[in-house]
Amino acid sequence: MRVGTVKEIKNHEYRVGLTPESVQEMVAHGHETWVETGAGAGIGANDEDYIAAGGIIKSTAAEIFAECDMIVKVKEPQAVERAMLRENQILYTYLHLAPDPEQTKDLVASKAVCIAYETVTGRHGGLPLLKPMSQVAGRMAIQAGATALEKANGGRGVLLGGVPGVLPANVTVIGGGVVGFNAAQMAVGLGADVTILDRDPEVLEKMAIHFESRAKTRFSNKANLMDCLKNSDLVIGAVLIPGAAAPKLVTRDMLKHMRQGAVLVDVAIDQGGCFETSHATTHAEPTYIIDDIVHYCVANMPGGVARTSTYALNNVTLPHALNIADFGWKEAMRRDAHLAEGLNVCGGHITYKAVADDLGYTH
Ligand code: NAD
Repeated sequence: MRVGTVKEIKNHEYRVGLTPESVQEMVAHGHETWVETGAGAGIGANDEDYIAAGGIIKSTAAEIFAECDMIVKVKEPQAVERAMLRENQILYTYLHLAPDPEQTKDLVASKAVCIAYETVTGRHGGLPLLKPMSQVAGRMAIQAGATALEKANGGRGVLLGGVPGVLPANVTVIGGGVVGFNAAQMAVGLGADVTILDRDPEVLEKMAIHFESRAKTRFSNKANLMDCLKNSDLVIGAVLIPGAAAPKLVTRDMLKHMRQGAVLVDVAIDQGGCFETSHATTHAEPTYIIDDIVHYCVANMPGGVARTSTYALNNVTLPHALNIADFGWKEAMRRDAHLAEGLNVCGGHITYKAVADDLGYTH
């Protein structure tokens, strides 16, 4: 199969579908792999790195869309890319079609085979092609929160780990899923005093077993949350109710009970945010202050560490990409029902029920 990857053109997207190491694997499997010039610039991989890996550099995305059997990307195709998709061509990338009728219409019209990372399932449950981005965001939340706690950024001037003779910061993590677990790991590692809240007793048990005495766990209800908020220097919002907007767990009224200069990091902002006062921010201007509380609400946190995120993403996307290239998409999906869950649009039809239902297409 001829496989191609292009430079991402969505605003401020620096990740790339295939790293040079992934290209090397593709080539080792006997697949000619084309790479648009500069595709890896955002992660510090230049054309020479791709050539050394056996890739073939092309000067335009148009050539790649015109000649490759499979396109491996990161973000959903933009309008100009959608116009280049061809019948039977495989598109393997994040799509997030449910809230995007325009993209869906174009993908249906293209008659391409569109496989969405975010709906591929895993052997142990969950959504393994989304997981690494939650891991990145959770870990980054503590870095971002630590920076926001500095005086110059409006924070209360507290070092997360303290120093010998001075108490560490209090960190509250709301939600003990992938984001929350990774945030807690980082905060514990820095020596902060960490409390994790969740509503799921099994999650609380898992956290308690993992962290033992290095972090506390509390059931997430209003009273416990309020108690934690009063003493927190840093609060991480990491809740998810699948398929629903995030619940507003911290209201504006609650902010006045918090310490002046405390920091809220709302990782759940991509689902609307779990703090009433949250609104999405960008890496260029990540924070704002309301009622003396610093808010960090970047909606695409992994984009800030594009190199780490690209490698983390390739680790989970490449095995499927190799199978698709080796066996063809039909046989690869016949062998792996989890990959088949990724098929969202195919041959002019929506093939993923939730997307069809959400957009009012007949299934
Ligand atoms: P997850 O499903 O692994 O974990 C969510 C946890 O929230 C679960 O353990 C659940 O029990 C818990 N929860 C639900 N309601 C709760 C409540 N009222 N109180 C306490 N806990 C509650 O999800 P995840 O992968 O950790 O993702 C968390 C959020 O982070 C999602 O909204 C996701 O979209 C978002 N996210 C954002 C970025 C970003 O760049 N901003 C990146 C990755 C993920």
